[in-house]
Amino acid sequence: MNVLRFSDLCAQGKAAGQRVFIRADLNVPQDDSGAITEDTRIRASVPCVQMALDAGAAVMVTSHLGRPKEGEFKPEDSLAPVARRLGELLGREVPLVSDWVDGVDVKPGQVVLLENCRLNKGEKKNDEALAKKLAALTDIYVNDAFGTAHRAEATTYGIAQFAKVACAGPLLAAEIDAITKALASPKRPLVAIVAGSKVSTKLTILQSLAKNVDQLIVGGGIANTFMLAAGLKIGKSLAEADLVGEATAVIEAMRARGAAVPIPVDVVTAKNFAADAPATTKAADAVEDDDLILDIGPKTAELLAAQLREAGTIVWNGPVGVFEFDAFAHGTETIARAIADSSAFSIAGGGDTLAAIAKYGIEKQVGYISTGGGAFLEVLEGKQLPAFEILAKRAAG
Ligand code: ADP
Ligand code: MG
Repeated sequence: MNVLRFSDLCAQGKAAGQRVFIRADLNVPQDDSGAITEDTRIRASVPCVQMALDAGAAVMVTSHLGRPKEGEFKPEDSLAPVARRLGELLGREVPLVSDWVDGVDVKPGQVVLLENCRLNKGEKKNDEALAKKLAALTDIYVNDAFGTAHRAEATTYGIAQFAKVACAGPLLAAEIDAITKALASPKRPLVAIVAGSKVSTKLTILQSLAKNVDQLIVGGGIANTFMLAAGLKIGKSLAEADLVGEATAVIEAMRARGAAVPIPVDVVTAKNFAADAPATTKAADAVEDDDLILDIGPKTAELLAAQLREAGTIVWNGPVGVFEFDAFAHGTETIARAIADSSAFSIAGGGDTLAAIAKYGIEKQVGYISTGGGAFLEVLEGKQLPAFEILAKRAAG
């Protein structure tokens, strides 16, 4: 995708002395006292801010935090804890500015954090008057927030329409590059793993991927729905019986292209959903009426792992079993290790998928780990993300 890149502008000296507005994703989890419990997003946003400072720009950074009501400031919605943490990471003080829509005082070489952008009236609706005011604050608008790239809001879309220059920050550019490499021009065979529990959302993803991938590996609640479609019994397992027709259509679409959706040959079951429930491995056609399928079986896991080792590109979303319970984690661990061992370019995303990657310590062996849960799923669904669309439009002139 053709977008202007902030790193190029900096390298060409075009950011020196300019007012730069960075839309980052600093929406971190906090405990009841407001303390930040996990700061990955702040750390991931530092390179763009540092790049702007090194380039000699006057730097404004903003983000949303939580779901505040527009126009109604409450202390718990403040970016104050984020400003402190960002300051620690940058090794300099980061002043927090409130009521900033009508003007921001910042000089080249300085950085300020602009209070929670979702407090501004019109942010979520992408109000044009607000977007024009935001655009007037800056010479260069930088979007570095992939997590909100699927939403057209004033700081993610409208400002990009009206700013003198609109470009992608390093984090957003990396997402665009990884997604292009995996889906637009993949090394084949392209294998996608779609698993986990959100069956109905993910069925849309499967329909879109079925047009492009060579193998579609299903797991978790999705695999159960496909087992139903294949005429197998799944007992009390998580599935969406009304979506069997859609699952069948995906199998057929894949078959018509000479591709396949492998149905599990064995499964791990329990009689109740609990960490200490006794686990039983059985053939896929031996599931009893009171069984819950909580993982793919070892034979299935090995067959899938062999496919992953042969893949050219791997796209992974969703754990194939209840990996939070050790007795039902074997399938997900086998898949994770096969991805780690494969020479394929791999891209992974999804909240629980990232937790599984962390659990098995394979972060370094995955080609690209996407930070945007909802945005990543929408890319897989084949949707054009508004933030990408407007940056590409601006780059086209
Ligand atoms: P992600 O967050 O990566 O997009 P999901 O939220 O769709 O993934 O699904 C993850 C959840 O799915 C995990 O909590 C996991 O325990 C659950 N899960 C996986 N397999 C099964 C299964 N067979 N039955 C019930 N839940 C499952
Ligand atoms: Mg999840």
